[in-house]
Amino acid sequence: MSESKILVDVKNLKKHFSKGKDIWGRDTDVLKAVDGVSFQIRKGETFGLVGESGSGKSTVGRCLLRLYDYTDGEVSFDGQQIGGLGEKKLKPFRRRIQSIFQDPYSSLNPGLNVLELISEPMKIHGTHQGEDRKEIIAALLEKVGLKREHLYRFPHEFSGGQRQRISIARALSVRPEFVVCDEPISALDVSVQAQVVNMLEDLQAEFGLTYLFIAHDLSMVRHISDRIGVMYAGRLVEVAESDELYENPQHPYTQALLSSILEPDPKKAGQRLSQNGYTAKRGGEGNSELREVSPGHFVADF
Ligand code: ADP
Ligand code: MG
Repeated sequence: MSESKILVDVKNLKKHFSKGKDIWGRDTDVLKAVDGVSFQIRKGETFGLVGESGSGKSTVGRCLLRLYDYTDGEVSFDGQQIGGLGEKKLKPFRRRIQSIFQDPYSSLNPGLNVLELISEPMKIHGTHQGEDRKEIIAALLEKVGLKREHLYRFPHEFSGGQRQRISIARALSVRPEFVVCDEPISALDVSVQAQVVNMLEDLQAEFGLTYLFIAHDLSMVRHISDRIGVMYAGRLVEVAESDELYENPQHPYTQALLSSILEPDPKKAGQRLSQNGYTAKRGGEGNSELREVSPGHFVADF
């Protein structure tokens, strides 16, 4: 794994949102959703991103998808910076980088059948036509555990897990290299979460995919990720290989997050997280550089 090339390179990424403007249109209040985040993802790797709700995980994902322009920093994909590119130059990257989101219902147009839904990205990127396209889609459906007979059915005829499988087939239809998975199993029944995660792993191996896997808890992410980054208030506080992070967490916030997954009562877990008391303020004068405490294990000052 460590010999493979760097596919995604994020350097000092910042995304600030304006919360208020004065009468001259100048920002008076800024929310620093992402405030100086750096990490790299190697080809074929799964990089997990965890942290509580509001820590900035989805904003990082949306910046990598170039759904947002960034306030500062750089994102390179396969050696090319995508930050400053206009839509025309971005188009090939919009094929190579795909996404799977949490709620497969809201991201699937209810008026389209499965064939039409999965055709959408293929049409946009002009990949395959007619019968050829249909055969590819039917084969993809089987890869994600659905059937050819499902081609002419509509989203409401499927369960949540099946809808997420359709979203996955749609994302893969244009042969992406990198997939941003933003809480892809959080809305699913616990009984199907593991199935979908295992399927994502099988598809990764078969198609040579690289994943950013965003989750708000650490339980499933350990299993799927090679390395994990922990976000807190717009910053990365710790990055390590998955097992190392679990067995040897260094940052108090990571320790609190880990102890909260061992606490079955979510209320108590929440209390524990705040009591264990990592209370750095969003947008404070922190240092976005991480210190390497052992090979491949990086921790922010605290
Ligand atoms: P996470 O995915 O970790 O829950 P997000 O990246 O969604 O966190 O959000 C980080 C912070 O940025 C939150 O305070 C959220 O309210 C804010 N935020 C996210 N998107 C926007 C937006 N489009 N406009 C304004 N604020 C936003
Ligand atoms: Mg999110």
